[in-house]
Amino acid sequence: MRNAWHPTDTKYGIQNTRHERPLMPTVVEPPLFFLDYDGTLAPIVDDPAAAVPHPEAPDLLRDLDAQFPLWIVTGRDLQALSSFLDRPYSAIGLHGAQEGVVGRDIHNRMSDEAAAALRRLRASVPSVDGLRVEDKARSFAVHYREARDESGARDQLKDWLADLPEVLDAIWGKKVVELRPDGLTKGTAVRRIAAQHPDHVPVYLGDDVTDEDAFAALQEMDRDAVSIKVGPGDTRADARLDGPDAVMAYLRRYV
Ligand SMILES: [Mg+2]
Repeated sequence: MRNAWHPTDTKYGIQNTRHERPLMPTVVEPPLFFLDYDGTLAPIVDDPAAAVPHPEAPDLLRDLDAQFPLWIVTGRDLQALSSFLDRPYSAIGLHGAQEGVVGRDIHNRMSDEAAAALRRLRASVPSVDGLRVEDKARSFAVHYREARDESGARDQLKDWLADLPEVLDAIWGKKVVELRPDGLTKGTAVRRIAAQHPDHVPVYLGDDVTDEDAFAALQEMDRDAVSIKVGPGDTRADARLDGPDAVMAYLRRYV
């Protein structure tokens, strides 16, 4: 339950952000899982196309999915996720702009106006050495992790996005900026799905800035929920796990 952590257990390397003490999140029953992909189920790698799941993830996901409602959450296009996940999991893609089943039906929730604005921006990405554009079906991200001058690259991207159309949001993450439709977030998706499971306890694990929308959505709901930030960085989540190894250790407690 929210804020119900055990302050003495260090086994899973979880830290409360306010007290910076190792804490372990509660195991709740019955859980409704929302699991971010990159950085949570899969270690962060330089090439997004090479982000294979943690070795324990495929078996764990299969076992959890057989027992509990489970959603994979990602900023990626769900089509791209099907190369990493071997089963038709329910999933939220493009930070909430997509909903569907990995490798099967995918529903886009984006307006035509937002899609057109994304196409215009995609055609005008600044030409900077080391930038990598990750194309998604109706969205894209620009990674500057491999730019020689990272802060210079970031500044150029900020200039490029200075007059962003109102129908879009620019989301700055870990050495990446992602362009997505305005008003559709991981938070709106989580709110909608959680409402369909009133007798379950939402458990959300995520590592990136877009996961904060989901943490906020869960905390604004009048129900028990567990929000867990994976890795370092400011967060409004209730607890923290060090990385995918600690995520696997926590999820194993449900099987
Ligand atoms: Mg992530």
